[in-house]
Amino acid sequence: MAVADHIKDIKDKIVAACRKGGRDAFSVQLVAVSKFQPDEKIQEALDAGLRVFGENRVQEACEHWGVRRSVYPDLELHVIGPLQTNKAKEAVALFDVIETVDRPALIDELKKECRKQQKFPRFFVQVNVGEEPQKGGVMPADLPVLLDYAAQSGLRIEGLMCIPPADDPPALYFALLMKLAARYNLPNLSMGMSGDFEKAIALGATHIRVGTALFGDRK
Ligand SMILES: *Cc1c(COP(=O)(O)O)cnc(C)c1O
Repeated sequence: MAVADHIKDIKDKIVAACRKGGRDAFSVQLVAVSKFQPDEKIQEALDAGLRVFGENRVQEACEHWGVRRSVYPDLELHVIGPLQTNKAKEAVALFDVIETVDRPALIDELKKECRKQQKFPRFFVQVNVGEEPQKGGVMPADLPVLLDYAAQSGLRIEGLMCIPPADDPPALYFALLMKLAARYNLPNLSMGMSGDFEKAIALGATHIRVGTALFGDRK
């Protein structure tokens, strides 16, 4: 199936999930995860009208999007992978939304780069909902302190993001993220991937990050 067909299929599923949950279909943004995908598939997605993409690594994102940025001025690029502080400069330069803010040192660095470059991407905090040591994200118990730190630094956080543990059913984790976002008055929730985005929509996702269901298996 071509990328355009997958897009149609996914959009139909988004509309259906929204209808079922009594939500407006425009309240869910599809973020097309283009990491490790061949260039021609990315082009197919652009030709089919997609403009919002997610990447894990800054270097690969530059390869995919550095030149295309000027061809498609309405692109919206999201960082969805762990961000090292020494990549903050490139991340601020290239991306529109940074979804993986998770520690004070990164907030410091992002703030500095925003000021220097006079560029102001949007920010989400990643929450380590399964409290997995190998994963990025702030522990749920440490979230309020980090949000305070961001507020004091003048970094406006507009949502939460999570990647639930691979081996558990995701619904409890999605519900936890929804609860945390409500508690701290954050309007956006980035959760749900190829296998579980409908469930995420049922639990309030405003951004779903879909890779393989759109593009096929990664290289
Ligand atoms: C790769 C990735 C995705 C996309 O996963 P699929 O299962 O291919 O849809 C979503 N979110 C993050 C953070 C990822 O790293």
